Amino acid sequence: MKVTFFGGAEEVGRSCILISSGNSNILLDAGVKLGKVVEHPSITKQVLDKVDAIFVSHAHMDHVGYLPHLYSMGYRGKIYATKPTLELTNVLISDYMRISDPKAITKDGLTRMQKSYKIVEFREKIKVKDFTVSFSPSGHIVGASMITVDDGKNRLVYAGDVNLAKTRLLNGADIRNLNADALITESTYGGRKDIFPSESIVVNKALQSIRDTIKRGGKVIIPSFAVGRAQEVLFLLDDYMNSGVIPKVKIYVDGMINKANRIYRHNVIYCREELQKRILMSDYDPFRSPNFFPIESKTERSKVAASRESCIIVTTGGMLSGGPVLYYLSKLGTNQANKMILVGYQGANTPGRQLQDGAKEIEVEGKKIKVTLRIETYHLSAHADRRQLETFVSRIKGLKTVLVVHGEPGKLSEFSEDLAKKYRAIIPRIGIEYTI
Ligand SMILES: [Zn+2]
Ligand SMILES: [Zn+2]
Repeated sequence: MKVTFFGGAEEVGRSCILISSGNSNILLDAGVKLGKVVEHPSITKQVLDKVDAIFVSHAHMDHVGYLPHLYSMGYRGKIYATKPTLELTNVLISDYMRISDPKAITKDGLTRMQKSYKIVEFREKIKVKDFTVSFSPSGHIVGASMITVDDGKNRLVYAGDVNLAKTRLLNGADIRNLNADALITESTYGGRKDIFPSESIVVNKALQSIRDTIKRGGKVIIPSFAVGRAQEVLFLLDDYMNSGVIPKVKIYVDGMINKANRIYRHNVIYCREELQKRILMSDYDPFRSPNFFPIESKTERSKVAASRESCIIVTTGGMLSGGPVLYYLSKLGTNQANKMILVGYQGANTPGRQLQDGAKEIEVEGKKIKVTLRIETYHLSAHADRRQLETFVSRIKGLKTVLVVHGEPGKLSEFSEDLAKKYRAIIPRIGIEYTI
């Protein structure tokens, strides 16, 4: 079995991996890297023409954003993914169309992409030429999967993005019964120091901070990815507001989060059983909490920003490179009564990372925004930390080779150096073919 990376190697973003065996070829993920400019994977038309099918791990732009490009380049194969992944992909892509180059994505390509969807159930076995492929839950966002590829001689597990911990909405990754010769693993938090404190400590500190800001009459801005973090943060706020830990104020929900919430809601069967029971057995549906106030128009958005009320605003984009959060920051970002709370991964060179590192101004799409309010970071990550990554790797039976991807250079090398004591550990480079 041969593995080639067209993106997501030595970086976080534009994940795209070719797996080949004999004359069978499949692609795992096809993402873009969002930043000041959108970066694409380096796959050529010549390679694409050989691809028999595409398998998608989960609906985040760094894993699905390049799909419409591939179909606009003439690709005609199928896309296999779980139902929530495919539905959420549609939401993300429709938003992406606003910023993407209309020449790169054709209407016809987009239509063909959506007609190529094939829903996969967890543990179902899909045969594509020499390959047998199956999905299992990776615990990262709803529908997120690890993908196992077997060519009859070797077996490979692609972790996608992985989280072992149970969250408010999801069970952790299902790491029982994994056996493989090779693993491709993310390492977003693979650095030796990436050990998260216990969730209850982080949550308590975050709640204290929110309480203080509300008591001061300020607004709390929480930028978030539309899919995954937003739902976890909203559920957390709802729980603690209902139990009186944080004062009752309006929780405004802006951007694509509202659409993503609806998809989460009707895919609740993919969430934790406790959540399904809560919705079925009681009258309380946290997705439709009376504490949440969706923002549906620009007028509503400007009213919220101009109002004097204390409130919480949960809005896209998660790394501040776009989305309504920029509007809120332009209006509220210099008022010291307000606060911004970061909860997710801030990619290298993104405005979110710049502010985290102490910048007082960001520039997005040529516009400068002064941001002098207090910024705090609380790790409510959807990714495994270093300890969890070690557990994950150690649970895979028969493992010989680990390919470490989806991480920043320092983290990749720290993680792979330690893995090298037990495995053949590789930090793959883009465009190079590795044999496993
Ligand atoms: Zn992800
Ligand atoms: Zn990712």
